[in-house]
Amino acid sequence: MKRILVTGGAGFIGSHLVDSLLAQGHEVLCLDNFFTGDKSNVAGHLGNPRFELVRHDVVEPILLEVDQIYNLACPASPVHYQFNPVKTVKTNVLGTLNMLGLAKRVGARILQASTSEVYGDPKVHPQTEGYWGNVNPIGLRSCYDEGKRLAETLMMDYHRSNKVDVRIVRIFNTYGPRMAVNDGRVVSNFAVQAIKEDPITIYGDGKQTRSFCYVDDLVAGMIAMMEAEEFIGPVNLGNPSEFTMLELAEKVIKISGSRSQLEFKPLPPDDPTQRQPNIALAREKLGWSPKVALEEGLPSTLEYFRSVLERD
Ligand code: NAD
Ligand code: UDP
Ligand code: UDP
Repeated sequence: MKRILVTGGAGFIGSHLVDSLLAQGHEVLCLDNFFTGDKSNVAGHLGNPRFELVRHDVVEPILLEVDQIYNLACPASPVHYQFNPVKTVKTNVLGTLNMLGLAKRVGARILQASTSEVYGDPKVHPQTEGYWGNVNPIGLRSCYDEGKRLAETLMMDYHRSNKVDVRIVRIFNTYGPRMAVNDGRVVSNFAVQAIKEDPITIYGDGKQTRSFCYVDDLVAGMIAMMEAEEFIGPVNLGNPSEFTMLELAEKVIKISGSRSQLEFKPLPPDDPTQRQPNIALAREKLGWSPKVALEEGLPSTLEYFRSVLERD
């Protein structure tokens, strides 16, 4: 049994990770400032003696004793990370610095939740880990993209200078139950709109692509990476099946049986035109690949949003 810190543990991915780690018998310390996460995501564990929930902002230093750190604290949806972009930079840079300082002090292994956004609007397709990316340093998405890139830099510098045991995963678009209704990302928007029979908002012509990974697959990959020996990454984690936003809308409408119509809205600036992970490295080093196809993951996701909307 290990003592494991999950920052951002009350968020969408973090709460599923907490579920898995507790199920494996570990002690879990969940740290969150509840900016985009919610206590309800981990409420089921509150009586568990192996679980502890701490309200804390990773921008501030903290003294803890742990064996492993999963650093997920950071708003992930463009709507939320652009709400206070300077805070997003601080969370990525100072937050990761503090977690690295903590890892160094106690000798913990630390895994950073990086992102496909480090590739920007990629000129290499599908994206391999060796690609350095095509990122605008001064745009609306830069607080997140460049913040995550600097977090990777800090990870590697602490590794080289201080021998900190690091792991970096680059997460591609992930979806599933417990995304926030107001999250603003495409799967939650389309799901909520379809259930309410509101217009489905397609940004731009809807021909831009993304590759969607079900959250259970992603969490399995993150844990496999944390447990990997002699391999620190960065490694892509995602589902290589690529869809246009029009195809996604069609699937959501079909599976939900909705009568929603499509509504076209302007494309946000710097919106990547295509994105698909090359996961050869994850297959080779971790023996990991996603199992859940979009058609299989969407029904439980829609079911989740239906239950939340009925409750509220
Ligand atoms: P989320 O917004 O649901 O979760 C982020 C969590 O971090 C929330 O609980 C939030 O309250 C917390 N948080 C934010 N700022 C904090 C701070 N300063 N101090 C403490 N807690 C803070 O998003 P998610 O989709 O679960 O993403 C989790 C991580 O995975 C993020 O680091 C994100 O960048 C990364 N990621 C996610 C995706 C995806 O598709 N979901 C893709 C790439 C990377
Ligand atoms: N830090 C922390 N918890 C710890 C150890 C360090 O929050 O247990 C913070 C520390 O306050 C600093 C950062 O992590 O802001 C980097 O720490 P490090 O020791 O690497 O650098 P220094 O303190 O020398 O700047
Ligand atoms: N998108 C859309 N309608 C929405 C929300 C998003 O068409 O209501 C598009 C968005 O422009 C982008 C894609 O869906 O091209 C994925 O957006 P998301 O914010 O989910 O993730 P990211 O752009 O960070 O990959």
